[in-house]
Amino acid sequence: VLAALIALLALDPGAAHRHVTLPNGAQAVVERMAGARTASVQLFLGARNAPETPATHGWRHLLEHLLVQGPARDIDARLERQGMFLTAETTREAIRVAIDAPPERVEAAIAALGELLRPFSTTAEEIAGEIRVIEQELALLDPEQRMSARAWEAAFEGTRLDPFGALEAMRQATPKDLYDLHWLLTQPANLAISVAGPVDVEAALRTARQVLEPLPAGPLGLRPPPDRPGQAAEASGEGPGALRSALVPGLPARETVAAYAIALALRARHAGLRALYSPTTREGLVSVWHPDGRVLDAAVTGLDEAQIAELSESARALAEAWARAVVASPAQVAEWRGLEAVMGDRRLLDRMRREAANLDDGVLREALERFADGRAVVVRGGR
Ligand SMILES: [Zn+2]
Repeated sequence: VLAALIALLALDPGAAHRHVTLPNGAQAVVERMAGARTASVQLFLGARNAPETPATHGWRHLLEHLLVQGPARDIDARLERQGMFLTAETTREAIRVAIDAPPERVEAAIAALGELLRPFSTTAEEIAGEIRVIEQELALLDPEQRMSARAWEAAFEGTRLDPFGALEAMRQATPKDLYDLHWLLTQPANLAISVAGPVDVEAALRTARQVLEPLPAGPLGLRPPPDRPGQAAEASGEGPGALRSALVPGLPARETVAAYAIALALRARHAGLRALYSPTTREGLVSVWHPDGRVLDAAVTGLDEAQIAELSESARALAEAWARAVVASPAQVAEWRGLEAVMGDRRLLDRMRREAANLDDGVLREALERFADGRAVVVRGGR
């Protein structure tokens, strides 16, 4: 009985969730997850108003690397001494910096993220050093990540650049360029702090406000060019294996949730298959990769009715399990809530969960067809 009660508390539907937009345009989101053991504190520098071009391709990734070291380049060490861990990533939608923190350190974690909003400075030497680090990351990229970048290029004709970036463009970035980019990305309208975990909502919100409120409201920056609709394509990539990408509308569209559910079901069925999707409210790609292109082709085409029914059943179960796992994890809740802030849709997570719980056979069958020849983006490796 006690265990059941604890489980109920952990899933408390009344868990407090506050999402505040400050007068300067910055956003703070806090979600109390009473059953969680640690908290996740995340800073988002939304990219909506700072689209990259071929000349600046990867500058956000480069800035992320330099920025997360902190103004005195000592943030990691300071956090780790207090039992906190920092990670960062650059996606098409944002630079995201996340700190896992014990609940009693949430305010210190928010303050540490606040340091990253101070005017940024670096040197040509630091830039060159960090490009060498990124070169090593490039060498370690998985084949599905390389092929996925090719698929985006083919589907969107270079208008939705891969967030990893191009080393050649990074080598052109000067300290002043990165100062300017940081200035633009830290305009309050592009900023969000998102906190999830066993936290005092009002206290966390107060600390986030103290960090965000003093920032002067500024210009929004560049206007993003309108999105070019994606198109089916065939391309060759650096092998091994092959990748198939379904073109999907932005979340929380049920077609997109269904395509991701199909990708999860394919992964469960075929050893070695990888599924990729990066959440966005813009059109995007749900991709599946396998080291053997023939296995991948057979996995999504020429299935009989019984196989499709079985795949759909598995997709439904996996989508529900995925949504449950998302809302049980402070790191994932903070990420989704932050994404809601920078993408301007406050009900993204809740609607995604509802769609994941209501996938019918029709939408799943249609989602499977999106991976087929003629509708998909297909990338084949060179060996
Ligand atoms: Zn990196």
